[in-house]
Amino acid sequence: MRQIIGHRWTMKVTQILSAIVGFILLGIGIAILIMPEVISSLFLSLSTGGAGINSLRADIGALFLGMSVLVVFGSLSRHRWVLIIPTIFLGFVVIGRVISMIIDPFPTSTMGALTMEISFIIILLMAILSRAVSEEGGELLQVLRIVFSRRVLIASGLVFILIAGGFLLRPKISSLVWSYGVGDRLTTSAIDDLPDGLHVGLAGTGAPLPDSKRVGISTFVIAGKHQFIIDCGPGSTLNLELMQYPLEETTAVLLTHFHSDHIGDLGELMLKIWTNGVRTEPIPVMGPVGVEAVVEGFNQAYSLDAEYRYAHHGDTIAPRSGAGGRPVVIDGFGADEQVVIFDDDGVRVTAFLVSHAPIEPALGYRIDYGGRSVVLSGDTIPDETLMELSGGIDILIHDAMNPEMLDVMTLASNSSGETVAGTVAIDIQDYHAFTEETARIARDADVGELVLNQILPPIPASILHPAFLGDSGNIYHGPITVSYDGMLFSLPADSDEVEKYWLLK
Ligand SMILES: [Zn+2]
Ligand SMILES: [Zn+2]
Repeated sequence: MRQIIGHRWTMKVTQILSAIVGFILLGIGIAILIMPEVISSLFLSLSTGGAGINSLRADIGALFLGMSVLVVFGSLSRHRWVLIIPTIFLGFVVIGRVISMIIDPFPTSTMGALTMEISFIIILLMAILSRAVSEEGGELLQVLRIVFSRRVLIASGLVFILIAGGFLLRPKISSLVWSYGVGDRLTTSAIDDLPDGLHVGLAGTGAPLPDSKRVGISTFVIAGKHQFIIDCGPGSTLNLELMQYPLEETTAVLLTHFHSDHIGDLGELMLKIWTNGVRTEPIPVMGPVGVEAVVEGFNQAYSLDAEYRYAHHGDTIAPRSGAGGRPVVIDGFGADEQVVIFDDDGVRVTAFLVSHAPIEPALGYRIDYGGRSVVLSGDTIPDETLMELSGGIDILIHDAMNPEMLDVMTLASNSSGETVAGTVAIDIQDYHAFTEETARIARDADVGELVLNQILPPIPASILHPAFLGDSGNIYHGPITVSYDGMLFSLPADSDEVEKYWLLK
């Protein structure tokens, strides 16, 4: 009798524990659906950059939610055998985790997750076994009998042999993968397949504050036969390459102004434009007055490297005359504060003055091709000329800042004694546009889409977008994108379509 009571008690405890496991998995699953970046940074260490965020929300969310439904149902109903399914899932998760610990670098950071998964498996097994012991001829025993039947054991053995075989043949498989998949993909570009039109890629969307999802500001525009790179903030050249933007085909680099977050990568960019193609002339770098000093400075800093490259590769790859950049000053602004700086093959680029005092002059650009148009604000507060030039365009790319969110950072900096960071967070508020102001500009200028870049403060997760955007959605009813590095907006010529792609995984 006592034995039966003792056993009932064990069964109850294991049932409650396994139900708790179910609700933990459910909580994690829901949290992944709602705020994948936050959960990833806290528990999962998964990439949330580019298209990774999709898979995280969908695949990993489904894994947790699916397991939670099975665990909760198996724990609370009398069909305890259902618990076997999530236990098998968790078993494979552990196998994957252990394999990763053997072959991937620095796996110890996932030790906590492994411990949690193994304890979940133990709890579920206890819940299954305690029920199995008390049942005679029940459905759980029948299912266990099937699971441990000869056929299933043989099939499991085969799966195990396949995994082990794949593991042992890794050197062979990995070179095959390189030869027939990865290697050639590195040389083909999604950009090659774009139709004739105006295509806008965001290679850097961040501000000077460190942002794990955004490097320094840089945008490329492909317009028919011509290509422009507008600004080249720190780290953006690497993103341009990862997005497989054909650097060597660039017509000109356009600079909006000379804050370091807009020019920090100029030396690297000019070097790559030179060495990726066989250029015999320096790339034109256009910008406001002062561009000569900036370009000559970078030319000088990279002059020794230019000699090394020439000595190593010679004229066929790196003709000495093509190294560096050729500064082109944009001036001659009339009363309307705008000037056409490029007009060829149906592509027109207009530079205009914006309001970024004390930085003067600071420029924005409008690019037109094939009946499509885009305006890039550079850094500015709401500006009349920009508003006028944005009338009816397809996409307005505007710098954006949320002052209330910056104030929170200021308070935090000040209370931890970092008063310099706190003061900078206040100072920058008078020369960037607020998010709701950009929405007003987009509405009044009747633009097709609003894309916010140079995101201030750094917004690491989409769950924070509503806070960042404030009332913008009520002010402007078109699509608003809080940008991340790697986004591409493709505007086919003579249409009103806007296709969107992620070019950074
Ligand atoms: Zn600036
Ligand atoms: Zn800036």
